[in-house]
Amino acid sequence: MSSSKHRAGRHFLQIPGPSNVPDSVLRAMSQAVVDHRGPDFPQLTLGILDQLKPVFNTQSPIIIYPSSGTGAWEAAIVNCLSPGDKVLAFETGWFASLWKSMAEKLGFEVEWIEGDWRHGVDPTVVEEKLKADSSHEIKAVCVVHNETSTGATSRIGEIRQAIDASNHPALYLVDTISSLACVDYRHDEWKVDVTVSGSQKGLMLPPGLGFNAISEKALDASKSAACNVSYWSWQDMIDNNKNGVFPYTPATNLLYGLKEALRLLHAEGLENVYQRHARLAQATRIAVETWGLENFCVVPEEFSNSLTAVVMPDGHDADALRKVVLENFDMSLGTGLGKVKGKIFRIGHLGDFNELMLTGTLSGVEMGLGLAGVPHNKGGINAAMEFLTQS
Ligand SMILES: *Cc1c(COP(=O)(O)O)cnc(C)c1O
Repeated sequence: MSSSKHRAGRHFLQIPGPSNVPDSVLRAMSQAVVDHRGPDFPQLTLGILDQLKPVFNTQSPIIIYPSSGTGAWEAAIVNCLSPGDKVLAFETGWFASLWKSMAEKLGFEVEWIEGDWRHGVDPTVVEEKLKADSSHEIKAVCVVHNETSTGATSRIGEIRQAIDASNHPALYLVDTISSLACVDYRHDEWKVDVTVSGSQKGLMLPPGLGFNAISEKALDASKSAACNVSYWSWQDMIDNNKNGVFPYTPATNLLYGLKEALRLLHAEGLENVYQRHARLAQATRIAVETWGLENFCVVPEEFSNSLTAVVMPDGHDADALRKVVLENFDMSLGTGLGKVKGKIFRIGHLGDFNELMLTGTLSGVEMGLGLAGVPHNKGGINAAMEFLTQS
């Protein structure tokens, strides 16, 4: 892809985030920057905070940081934990591993449950580990809802039940960066203490906003937690947000975009948004199966509706396939991260996405498999079309 060569038509951005941004969101962001302490700003902030609530399914405070998702991870742990605190975390993939190493760098002790990256978190292991911790040394359980590196989801409601069954007071922290606004998520009902999210995946925005939804229990914990917090301080944000302002300059134009993205989500209806993701994900899996390729996630109930990670046949490099697809068809597919580099590629099917974008995406993959000489059966795209017309 040389920079001098013009490619006609739209690039297909089918990585699992950043996802495609709707034109109306791009247009909303192209408005003039305003005074974030001026008279009109509080209305924008308060409207957004209100419209975000049903996306997280919460009545609790939601904080919007000008940050990547990684910043929102850090905010979650430094606000409600104290240096040296122990957290329980699970190796579901690359993102869970990054969150773990962040916690270690920040001086927390991580009890790390190793995994093969092909499963979500096992709720029975959560219950077992918490029951064994009779002195309540574990202060938080950290779970990634949708492992974007593997296409496996964790069952957040069932893990809640496991925490309850163990009668353990640990806080429950959940990363929903690539699941929020893609699948049903219930911050209040599942008694999640901090829900971490980001703008550039299901929320259909460019990168640059991080979110924390905070339970009362987490907010209470933050009052006695002993980490030094300044930029990430929940309390400063909550105090300012009550009046529709921020303790420092917010990402004004991303907020314009967020307002429009929320309008689109509510106009479609969140239930319909989730059903659309489920349907397009299923069509993708049907194509993969028809090609005779393997879904990296091995538990059907944990298949992601945001992305599908596909295992390459032995002796074939996923990044070579991705290069063929990019050069010939101007489509970006997700690379394998960390230890699965070259072994899997990922098809993003989240955010602003529909049937014809999906069939275009699957055609690009199928043609790429042929050009790259990857052994497969033809007709994945036909099987997906068959499903889409019959369901
Ligand atoms: C993308 C992603 C992150 C990292 O977000 P950044 O915005 O890149 O910092 C963390 N967790 C999950 C599950 C993600 O999908």
